[in-house]
Amino acid sequence: MDLLELPPRCLAKMSSFLPTDGMSPSRLSWKQLLKQTNRLARLGSWELDLSEGNEDKMYWSEMTREILEVDDDYDPSLSGGFEFHEPESKQRIQQAVDEALANGTPFDEELLITTAKGNQRWIRCIGNADFEEGRCVRLYGSFQDIHNRKIAELELAQRNTFIETIVDNLPIGIAVNQIDSGETILMNKQFSKIYGWPQEELADVDTFFEKVYPDDEYRQQIKSRVMANIESGDPERMSWNNIQITTKEGEERIVNGKNIPLYDQNRMISTVIDVTAQKEAEREKTEILERIGDAFFAVDEEWTVTYWNKQAEEVLGMPSSEIINKNLWDEFEEAVELDFYKQYHKAVDEQITVHFEEYYPPLEKWFEVSAYPSETGLSVYFRDATERKRNEERIRQVSERFEKVTEATNDAIWDFNVQEDDLFWGKGFETLFGYDQDTTDPDLEFLISLIHPEDRERVVADIEEYMQPGTKTNWYEEYRFKKADGTYAPVMDRAVFIRNDKGEATRVVGAMTDLTRQKKNEEALKQLNEELEKHARELAVSNAELEQFAYVASHDLQEPLRMVTSFLNRLEERYGDQLDEKAYQYIDFAVDGARRMRQIILDLLNYSRVGQLKFERKELCLDELLEEILKLEQRAVKECGATIEWNSLPRIKAAETPIQQVFQNLIGNAIKYRQPGTEPVIRIEGGENETHWKFSVSDNGIGIRQEFQENIFTIFQRLHTQDEYSGTGIGLAVSKKIVEKHGGQIWVESEEGEGSTFYFTIAKA
Ligand code: ADP
Repeated sequence: MDLLELPPRCLAKMSSFLPTDGMSPSRLSWKQLLKQTNRLARLGSWELDLSEGNEDKMYWSEMTREILEVDDDYDPSLSGGFEFHEPESKQRIQQAVDEALANGTPFDEELLITTAKGNQRWIRCIGNADFEEGRCVRLYGSFQDIHNRKIAELELAQRNTFIETIVDNLPIGIAVNQIDSGETILMNKQFSKIYGWPQEELADVDTFFEKVYPDDEYRQQIKSRVMANIESGDPERMSWNNIQITTKEGEERIVNGKNIPLYDQNRMISTVIDVTAQKEAEREKTEILERIGDAFFAVDEEWTVTYWNKQAEEVLGMPSSEIINKNLWDEFEEAVELDFYKQYHKAVDEQITVHFEEYYPPLEKWFEVSAYPSETGLSVYFRDATERKRNEERIRQVSERFEKVTEATNDAIWDFNVQEDDLFWGKGFETLFGYDQDTTDPDLEFLISLIHPEDRERVVADIEEYMQPGTKTNWYEEYRFKKADGTYAPVMDRAVFIRNDKGEATRVVGAMTDLTRQKKNEEALKQLNEELEKHARELAVSNAELEQFAYVASHDLQEPLRMVTSFLNRLEERYGDQLDEKAYQYIDFAVDGARRMRQIILDLLNYSRVGQLKFERKELCLDELLEEILKLEQRAVKECGATIEWNSLPRIKAAETPIQQVFQNLIGNAIKYRQPGTEPVIRIEGGENETHWKFSVSDNGIGIRQEFQENIFTIFQRLHTQDEYSGTGIGLAVSKKIVEKHGGQIWVESEEGEGSTFYFTIAKA
């Protein structure tokens, strides 16, 4: 075997390019050097000599054989050589060899083979053809083991494709530009998609700015901002948010991005994301939050307020500018002691939604709250529930009041909800009729079944009439109602029909009164009345008889009395000289008795007349009437030095003589019953109300003890003997009769020793 790896002809050819002499003995000969180099490069050679008609037989150098791992005695051939190749490589090399044989086209192929020992390897096969007289006489070339490089290359290529795929499919847009020239050296699909421009139209930074920011002013603004940020070298400033860009189609989008300068590589990596949808969603969310009827606010994990909508401003009276970025509990200190604090903490700590209602004293409001925890804090929805709470409280009080009333009243209350066919009946059904509230669950049918069969049809017909749409509200019936013990109670049932807008009865509230006792009372009263009437009739008869008797008696008695007096006078005249002192005294007593009896008879006559007289009312001037009385009483007044005073009195309509008599009686008594040694002062006053005139006659006389104040108006009732104060005991009885005949009353207020005031009234008509 040759020392050299090259086929002999080739070697001969190559040797002409190599130095042939002057080689120092210490140095390797060029052949040795070549051999070593080939070995290091794992480079072998091959040759196919076609000159001697030997079409298939080949020459393989030592390295070629080593690469193919064939045995020493392996006899290489073209067809055999092909068999080492993997199918795809085999096809390629066969084609290349055919081409070279036919046209002399040289080839250089990287091929995958399987060695004789079954190892797969990448090799590079270079081939050349020699032609003589238009015919290929020889094919020769190199055969190099490039396995390691090829594998590395393939891996690299694979990794590159992998990275490219990733980069292209990332949701972020990525572009790499040359810092100095601005040239775009890389741009992924997403980048051009986000900006909405084809990659080739964004070839450098300047074109990019012009296309993406068509508005000159805005472009300048953005450009200088981005540049300033990059120049600052401050990593914080490399990000930019919410920048508006314009796509080729003219659509506007919002993007966030970042520039990553690699100064040592003179490159700038730019990343970008499309936040249009997010911004839109945020805007919508904000709009929704502003539009929802509820007040809303949000806090972060530190309880710092991050959002505060308009309703929250209104309900809590706190503008968002004053609360945003502040600590919730600092601004609403009072809430710390309340459920707000506890519930919000519970929501955050346990990551659960909480709903509650709480009163906030500083605002005097009730709130209905729902709080939702999130990873970033808490969202709180709430509304002012004050009005609802107050209504609930009002309803609660009203129904409590209703229940209490049904308990407290003596009536049996019932409440029929027409729509729900639901009947409530109050405690009265138990107390009045004996139905056990716990065991009886009544409905309307049941209630109706308890109406006495004879009354039922009438009552039901009446209820049905009220149940028709209309306007009638107040229903009333009397009927017999069956009690739990089977007996019937007479009842009065009153109900109010509550109607809706259409006039349909929606609810009927009623009250049943047990008339048993009332009926009994009525019966008893009726009996009593009848008896009273009978007595009154009897009394009227006896009164009339009495008056008749008094009249007759007084009339008839006057004549014999006159006789007694006149014969006593005659006795005195005729037998005066025969009579002694004692006899004269007796005659005086008898005359005085007769005189008094006459007075009694006259008074009695007067009394009886008052009952019989028909009063003719006429307009009276009381001032004149009193002057008249004073004239009549002149002597008595003078004797005792009495003062009688009054301010102008009203004009009244009454019977003149009787009224004069009343005043005369009262004034006369006031003079008569004076305190011994005191001059009487008598005051008369008058007034009126809508129905009556009222007068009083007061004196400073002896007064009347409480227990006699009523009796003195009864006929013949006197409190003194004739010796003390003369009189008949008829004056006040007559006055009472006169006043009562005028539709009035008479009474006295007095204290013994202090004087008396007599009052009387006269009805105006
Ligand atoms: P009489 O003829 O006794 O005065 P009256 O009917 O006028 O009869 O009065 C009844 C009684 O009422 C009197 O007896 C007297 O005791 C008492 N009385 C009447 N007026 C007065 C008065 N102004 N002050 C004290 N007592 C009086």
